[in-house]
Order: sequence, then C-alpha cells, then structure tokens
Amino acid sequence: MDCIFCKIAAGQIPAKLVHEDAEVVAFRDINPVAPTHILIIPREHIETVNDLEPGQAGMVGKLHLVARELARAEGLSERGYRLILNCGPEAGQAVFHIHLHLIGGRKMAWPPG
Ligand code: AMP
Repeated sequence: MDCIFCKIAAGQIPAKLVHEDAEVVAFRDINPVAPTHILIIPREHIETVNDLEPGQAGMVGKLHLVARELARAEGLSERGYRLILNCGPEAGQAVFHIHLHLIGGRKMAWPPG
C-alpha cells in the first residue's frame, strides 16, 4: 500500500506526532496554514468519507475526541478552532487517507476558499 499517511502511522516515515493510540494517530501538518495545524487520522486506511461504513462510527467519533484534547493542549478550547475533513476533488482532498484537520491560533474567515 503506497499511502503516505499509512506510512506515518506505521512509523515508516517521520512526522511530528502529537498523539498515538491503538486506533488514531495525530501529527503536525508539514505545510501549516495556521500556528496550529494538526492532522488526525485513523490507523485504518479509508480513502474518503464516501467510503465510511456504519461500523466505523466509533472511530469517526474518536477522531473528534482526540481533536478536542489536542485543541485543549494547544490552548485553543476557548479561543476557537476549525475542524475540516476534505472529501474529493472539489474540496481539494490531496491525500486519500481520511484526515481531520485541526486548525487554529489565528482568526479565520468564513466561508472558506
Ligand atoms: P487534504 O487537502 O485535506 O488532503 O490535506 C492534505 C494535507 O496533508 C495537507 O495540508 C498537506 O500539507 C499534508 N501533508 C502531506 N504530506 C504530509 C506529510 N508527509 N506530513 C505531514 N503533513 C503532510
């Protein structure tokens, strides 16, 4: 499997890990768009949100609970932050292993570009 995020989760290529457990790994984005930019991924290779199945609901919830803890650790709970999960070409998904972006530390605009 030639997936860069699977390789990060397996420790085969380096990344700045900020969380790791049996189901979920989180690491700093290599090209951050804000002072905090963390990617939270399942260890399981799932290409897009379109591929999720009901049995994976627990893992999807876990991604958000890890995001909440990391936002707290980054001092963002009260300031606010954004969680983004891009799906498919028009959303700009570039890596086809689902990942939740945790972005914060600056004021953000809405709607996103
Ligand atoms: P997306 O457009 O939602 O697919 O986002 C992919 C994200 O992965 C981008 O923000 C990239 O900067 C990030 N990224 C790609 N390769 C790496 C890597 N090796 N380590 C950390 N982040 C990466």
